[in-house]
Amino acid sequence: MQKPLFLAKVFFIASLLLTSSLSFADAENNQKADAIFKAIDNGIAINDHQQYLSYINELDSLIEPNDAWRQLRKDRARCWSFDIYKEGQVAVALAFAEKALTNPLLAQYPSHKLDLMLCKTWYVEQSGDVDTALKGYNKAINDAYILEDLRLVADARSMRGYLHSYQGNFTHALEDLITAQSMYQNLNLPAWEELNLYEIANAYRRLGDQTSAIRYFKQLHRSKIASQNFDVANTISVSIAIAEEELGQLDRAKARFNEAYLYWGEKGEHMAQATVAVNMAGTLIKLAEFKQAQRYIDSAVEYISPSDEGFYAFLHLFQAQIYLNENKLAAAHTSVEKARSAFMRVKNITGLAQLQQLESDIFVKQNDWQQAYQSLNEYVNLHNELDKKLLSTHTTEMRTRFNADQIEQENKHLIENQQLRDIELAMLEQNKLQQWIIILLGGLILLIISIFAYKQNQKNKLLSTLALTDDLTQLPNRRYIYDKAEQLTEQAKNTQTPFSVISFDADNFKAINDNFGHEVGDLALKLLAKTCRNVLSSEQEAARVGGEEFLIILPNTDKAQAYKLARTLVQQVSNTDFKSFPPGFTLTISAGVAGLKTDDNLASLLKQADHALYQAKANGRNQAQMS
Ligand code: GH3
Ligand code: MG
Ligand code: MG
Repeated sequence: MQKPLFLAKVFFIASLLLTSSLSFADAENNQKADAIFKAIDNGIAINDHQQYLSYINELDSLIEPNDAWRQLRKDRARCWSFDIYKEGQVAVALAFAEKALTNPLLAQYPSHKLDLMLCKTWYVEQSGDVDTALKGYNKAINDAYILEDLRLVADARSMRGYLHSYQGNFTHALEDLITAQSMYQNLNLPAWEELNLYEIANAYRRLGDQTSAIRYFKQLHRSKIASQNFDVANTISVSIAIAEEELGQLDRAKARFNEAYLYWGEKGEHMAQATVAVNMAGTLIKLAEFKQAQRYIDSAVEYISPSDEGFYAFLHLFQAQIYLNENKLAAAHTSVEKARSAFMRVKNITGLAQLQQLESDIFVKQNDWQQAYQSLNEYVNLHNELDKKLLSTHTTEMRTRFNADQIEQENKHLIENQQLRDIELAMLEQNKLQQWIIILLGGLILLIISIFAYKQNQKNKLLSTLALTDDLTQLPNRRYIYDKAEQLTEQAKNTQTPFSVISFDADNFKAINDNFGHEVGDLALKLLAKTCRNVLSSEQEAARVGGEEFLIILPNTDKAQAYKLARTLVQQVSNTDFKSFPPGFTLTISAGVAGLKTDDNLASLLKQADHALYQAKANGRNQAQMS
């Protein structure tokens, strides 16, 4: 019993015991099915048909009947599973594709539908209807671009390129194949890349650039030998031999064909062996080994049917050449006709041109000059057509050659995964840059906000300073000093520390204004402020509380110390050198001192100081008095 089937049975029994495990089994099966789809997509089974078929059988047991998406995906996989080299399989495959395409559920899954269309087109091509196939590919490519399904674009362009190449439209062929190549690279599908590269090499071979073709074939050959894929390696070796033959390296080609012929023979792959035999016959005819050539054709003829267009056509072309050599001219004509109809079906102009030349040679041997001329004429016409095609490809040849070199380089890149890493790195760098920009912008915004906040703060400070400062003397004003005095009174009472005040007033100031003018009076007030600043410490503050009245607050200072300070102040004012004042100018002050007692508040303290000041005035001014 197959392992997956066995597992499915186990899950089924388990589900009888515990229904919830059924959904677990479903999920498990879906996972397995998806893994198979992924393997098929990646081309794991490209060169192993048996593996591919066993995958499909496994899918049958894994997918629920009502799971439309996976059922259709399975149809896609099955559609590509038919072996076109087996007799009658192309017709079976076509019938399958046509039936699968009638499924109404496809309307919901356009990619599934398109892949089935593509699959059908492939079998249409294999059935020999290349015109319909080309139309099918054109439509498929168009639809794939509309669906933006890059995988299907790559597949369809690769297949159209293959057809173009076979028909001798090398410009179109290489354009399609090279586009598909870069898409497979971007989609990271190395197996499909290799297959497509094989077609690029074939296109070069057909274009006549055998050296480029051999280079690509040998690259692929090495890779296939390394992965022990000897069947494909052998097929590629045959392609190398064909290119070598066209380069005139007939012995090399013969050795390679021989090797391939024996390889397929050992494996019992008669069809594959027969195709090598046809190629070998062509080389042997060029070497004038006609008897040997006939032997290979005889070994191939029973396996190659008219539906194997290309091989069938060349088999009969070569047969006609041998008949001509043996002078069997009627038989030669029959073979020419067989080859002609096959070449016509697949529109192989190169083959037809060769055939016309051969036919002309046969007529010459029959002395039928008119027919010979006609055939030769046809040959010339076909050659003109071919030349035109070659000319149009010539300009693009340089381009495609350049592209091909690029492909070779990019292949190396892909192996190292450099490209992807570069992109990742670039993205990472870009992210880093973006992060830095955000940090920088954030920082800048913070800086601007900070500057604004700082400026606002400075402005507020200035405003409040202005509000609490006397404009003329730049001493604190009445409002400030009373607030501060209130605080210090409370503080002194709480901490039981001494606190004293001095209230002083300019003497006879009215007379100063009258005698010397208001400006001089103002200067005198500034002088008093300056004297205060000189005498007082930083903790002792003086303020202008009225016209020419001042208040000094003295924390941690008792009444005696305050009295001493008041006397110093009075002396300093009276001893001032008034040389910057008008002649005859003098200025004195009277001061009253009070110290805070336990039952005092600010008001009573100031009252006592004012009372002492009044005493000083009454006693003759220019002096200090204690309360
Ligand atoms: P006393 O010694 O008794 O204090 O006499 P006094 O002349 O100083 O008397 P009083 O205090 O009554 O007069 C104060 C004068 O001070 C009145 C006013 O003209 C003057 N004064 C008040 N403010 C200013 C000021 O800002 N500038 C000037 N130049 N004079 C002022
Ligand atoms: Mg006064
Ligand atoms: Mg006064």
